[in-house]
Amino acid sequence: KSKDAGGGRWTAYHPSMHDELMRRVSLADDLRYALDRDELVLHYQPTVDMRTGRVVGFEALVRWQHPSRGMVPPLDFIGVAEATGLIVPLGRWVMATACRQAVRWGGVHMAVNVSVRQFETGTLAETVAAVLAETGMPPHLLTLEMTESVLLTDTDENLARITELKALGVVLAMDDFGTGYSSLAYLRRFPMDILKIDRSFVDRLGGDPADGALVQTIIRLAHRFGMHAVAEGIENAAQLTILRAMDCDYAQGFFLSRPLPASEATRLLVAPFELAS
Ligand code: C2E
Ligand code: MG
Ligand code: MG
Ligand code: MG
Repeated sequence: KSKDAGGGRWTAYHPSMHDELMRRVSLADDLRYALDRDELVLHYQPTVDMRTGRVVGFEALVRWQHPSRGMVPPLDFIGVAEATGLIVPLGRWVMATACRQAVRWGGVHMAVNVSVRQFETGTLAETVAAVLAETGMPPHLLTLEMTESVLLTDTDENLARITELKALGVVLAMDDFGTGYSSLAYLRRFPMDILKIDRSFVDRLGGDPADGALVQTIIRLAHRFGMHAVAEGIENAAQLTILRAMDCDYAQGFFLSRPLPASEATRLLVAPFELAS
């Protein structure tokens, strides 16, 4: 049973709430050991050059091979990792593993997702420098993807942190662009190199012309600010064709390839995708 805060009334007890809480507590417990027990794996989704069809690099996406639950997707445990602080060692592991794979593939671009929590440690630049040194990854091949939330808090401090990362020579990408609350002014203020257009915008392409106009505007804006535009979540040929016509630079999505284990992703480097329609 749960008691209303202050109201003195007893509200209905929902077993689902309890189940959800227990699930999160036990996930948090298990996650503590997942790194040591080698239960985390990375899958790699290609980024494709819209003009040539070539795979220019990959985005590393973490999965948890849980001993009893099976494959757990990141949306089910990244939040828990952030709340417990485990995201810091986890994020370092992701970065090092992805860089090592990029070097093994002969030097391809590799993007990793960075949580605002890693950013707030104040030592992210040190960690990135250490990972680059220990893996032999050239800085310009590593992209750090961050969401707009990174730009929203402690603006001056965050600008200093971003400038520090930039000085290492790594590439900075704004992930899920359009879903957060950052204003266009932030884009000017922060030295981002890549703008990733959120899947929700790509989804709507081909329907209401106003949605197309919005995406076209985002791409022009990116170029105007000296950034490359990446479209995420392309699921069909029509979306790809529209985005190419809009001069979008790079493409990602299930239509081209789902995220794959390293052993399967290797073949994507052999031949370019056929994009012409
Ligand atoms: P994201 O960085 O925006 O990654 C893109 C997500 O969209 C991935 O989901 C990918 O599998 C999915 N996706 C790609 N193409 C398509 C498509 O055509 N259609 C649809 N429906 N989905 C597509 P995933 O792997 O489940 O990751 C979800 C989110 O979890 C990521 O969103 C990212 O925010 C977070 N994440 C994943 N790996 C890491 C990590 O190592 N560290 C941190 N901090 N976050 C991570
Ligand atoms: Mg991402
Ligand atoms: Mg994204
Ligand atoms: Mg997204």
